[in-house]
Amino acid sequence: MFDNYSALRSGLDSGKVSAVEIVKHYLDNINKGKHLNAFLSVFEDEALAKAAEIDKKIASGKAGRLAGMVIAVKDVLSVKGKRMTCSSKILENFEALYTATAVQRLIDEDAIIIGKTNCDEFAMGSSNENSAYGAVLNPHDITRVPGGSSGGSAAAAAADMCMVSLGTDTGGSIRQPAAFCGIAGLKPTYGRISRYGLTAFASSFDAIGPFAKNVEDAARALYEMAGHDENDSTSVKHDKTDYYAELSKPLKKGLTVGIVKEFLDHGVQKEIVDAVHSVTKHLESAGVKVKEISLPNAEYSIQTYYILTTAEASSNLARYDGARYGVRSKDSAVLEDMYVNSRTEGFGEEVKRRIMLGTYVLSSGYYDAYYKKAQKARRIIKDDFHNVFSEADLIITPTTPTTAFKIGEKINDPLAMYLNDVFTTTANLAGIPALSVPVGKDSDGLPIGLQVMGKDFDEAGVLSLGNYIMRNC
Ligand code: GLN
Repeated sequence: MFDNYSALRSGLDSGKVSAVEIVKHYLDNINKGKHLNAFLSVFEDEALAKAAEIDKKIASGKAGRLAGMVIAVKDVLSVKGKRMTCSSKILENFEALYTATAVQRLIDEDAIIIGKTNCDEFAMGSSNENSAYGAVLNPHDITRVPGGSSGGSAAAAAADMCMVSLGTDTGGSIRQPAAFCGIAGLKPTYGRISRYGLTAFASSFDAIGPFAKNVEDAARALYEMAGHDENDSTSVKHDKTDYYAELSKPLKKGLTVGIVKEFLDHGVQKEIVDAVHSVTKHLESAGVKVKEISLPNAEYSIQTYYILTTAEASSNLARYDGARYGVRSKDSAVLEDMYVNSRTEGFGEEVKRRIMLGTYVLSSGYYDAYYKKAQKARRIIKDDFHNVFSEADLIITPTTPTTAFKIGEKINDPLAMYLNDVFTTTANLAGIPALSVPVGKDSDGLPIGLQVMGKDFDEAGVLSLGNYIMRNC
């Protein structure tokens, strides 16, 4: 309907369109795209009622900065009074008791929440096939996955079922589906956005971030969500800039962009490597200095990531006993059996695999060999980035080694599935911001994603370069 929020807002302010019409447009698209299975719940009546309220606010000149921006929320984020399943049977009937800070801050600026989106169970996965409520289909090719774990949010934004959607990214769950669905997706710096109201997967990695068809709208949503929150002690008191306004400035003079040589060496689809080279050529002709850099320990990122996140997940998921909100196993004689059986029946295969892996790496006999060693590896990977950022302002890599793969192609091979995250997990290990932007398509017509990474809290730099690339390359 509108290419971006600026256009939508002028439509609203000039009376050319109403918020009610906008909501109807997205509801219509949600209906038409039902087969994609992107939504787990849609708040039709409430969204329309809220839109009518916003139309009044617009008329009286009192509307918030995001008035009429229609947003879909991944079903691991709480919205008060709404079901939050985390795409798991174990929380099938759970209703959130409060609203996540990130979501509340958008609502406070008159954004309209249109529904909750499908995802991999407890955000574990790279294809959205791990949802207890069925796979999500890629809007570009319905035989392919949309990526994961925030696949529903990515598909919803790509198929124009909302203007912006929220995802979470622990190891790539915003950037990888953004790449597969041909849209922009940002994982902010760890601590930039409060995690209050986000169901924890791996607490020292989890980040909330926006998806949108363009960088501008993602920048606007980020600005509202960012900032310290007393309900999350890991949210950081750090200045935020007007990210959207920054985008209209030209690229910084003397900007140096690093290309990670290890990431283009092998195993990456040729068209993706070509896309990175064509972007860097373009940047050079625009006066950007492009430099080959090295992240020598990045090759350990997948192992490190899967040891540390499963350890944290095994602890975070210990709280689900299945007794109240979902499947309570029927045939258990004693309490302990009820817990064991409910967890066995309530969790899917991948979640159980991770709980067992995590318990194993934390067990007394293996703690030093796995968990402690992985913590040291995480530090070394973070140090690699620190070194690189002394010679480059920003880093460019492919987001994924391939474009969207077929549904069913990797589901029985967990290792092949984990390797999808080879370029994304490093940013979560280091905590730095990273964005995926679309840069053309491969010969099957599937979108290619390019990743821009930056220093801690340099979302402005990351978004500016991403926006430039998306518009010019
Ligand atoms: N695909 C990764 C995993 O399965 C990332 C998940 C995420 O970022 N939530 O762990």
